Amino acid sequence: MKPPIFDYQAPVTIADAVRLLAGDADAVVLAGGQTLLPAMNFRAANPTLLVDIQHVAGLRGIAVGDDGVVVKAMVRHRELELDAAVLRVNPLVAEVMQHVAHIPIRTRGTVVGSLCHGDPSAEMPLLLVLLGGSVIAQGPAGQREIAAEDFFQSFLTTARRQDEIVVEARFPPLPPGAGWAFDEVTRRHGDYAIVGVGCVLALDDDGRVTGVRLAACGIADRPVRLKAAEALLNGTALGVSDLDAAVAASLPAVTQPDEMHVSASYRRRALGTLIRRMVAKAAQRARTGTMQ
Ligand SMILES: Cc1cc2nc3c(=O)[nH]c(=O)nc-3n(C[C@H](O)[C@H](O)[C@H](O)COP(=O)(O)OP(=O)(O)OC[C@H]3O[C@@H](n4cnc5c(N)ncnc54)[C@H](O)[C@@H]3O)c2cc1C
Repeated sequence: MKPPIFDYQAPVTIADAVRLLAGDADAVVLAGGQTLLPAMNFRAANPTLLVDIQHVAGLRGIAVGDDGVVVKAMVRHRELELDAAVLRVNPLVAEVMQHVAHIPIRTRGTVVGSLCHGDPSAEMPLLLVLLGGSVIAQGPAGQREIAAEDFFQSFLTTARRQDEIVVEARFPPLPPGAGWAFDEVTRRHGDYAIVGVGCVLALDDDGRVTGVRLAACGIADRPVRLKAAEALLNGTALGVSDLDAAVAASLPAVTQPDEMHVSASYRRRALGTLIRRMVAKAAQRARTGTMQ
């Protein structure tokens, strides 16, 4: 199918890009186009104007520092996945990204575009929530920082206003000595997750949990922190009953209804299995201090 008729602009400054968006309520940002253009071809999106941001100055590059990893708006998935400095300080990023679509799509699609699309089954929104990150949105009134847990509001809906461009995403660092893990259940490799779970976990010398973060995608209308499970695991030595309790406390977070390919009860089983596996894997990495 072909898209409906639309206008196209390729500004080179962020001020012009914002002005174009603010001047047309049906204008949208075009980044890598890997989601937007198929949606237009299927007539699921009908924008009047595409504001292509690929030539806008200042929207490229990855910065790694004490505050974590900052990813500018036009950084492609594949650039982040292969960045040597990111791999060194936060290998969880690459572990997550291997599950995002396929290499040709990751080579065009942007990390920030994935966040802005706000698919509740997507992996990068989960990572931002898991690490407690944020985005910087720039609109006519200037810039504002939006925390991940406020940014993702419901299915394909974020806190970004129509006339704002997300100029960067901020992924905080892993805590020192923490283990980490991500995996998902999908029908085929490269599909969006049916359920995905990420875990970051630190242990003391006695093997007790000093801090754990758990998040899931695919289970609700947005990526979800599993705070009840975190509270039950903190301070424990990760015994069988601790994990049973954490899984049981997480199951109500599954609010996706039965669908053609997957029931809600299947999602609950997958969530429980992934929580157990990701906690075990993260704990193993924390114990051995491995970064791989
Ligand atoms: C076959 C296929 C399989 C895929 N599988 C997966 C998968 O398994 N997991 C996954 O996470 N993704 C998957 N994707 C989506 C892919 O990751 C996209 O690259 C990503 O979702 C969007 O990035 P983009 O740069 O292409 O954004 P675009 O398609 O250009 O834009 C997407 C949306 O975000 C908005 N937007 C983009 N950038 C900005 C910005 N800086 N500021 C404000 N708004 C912005 C656009 O207006 C649009 O509404 C798949 C895509 C395809 C085609």
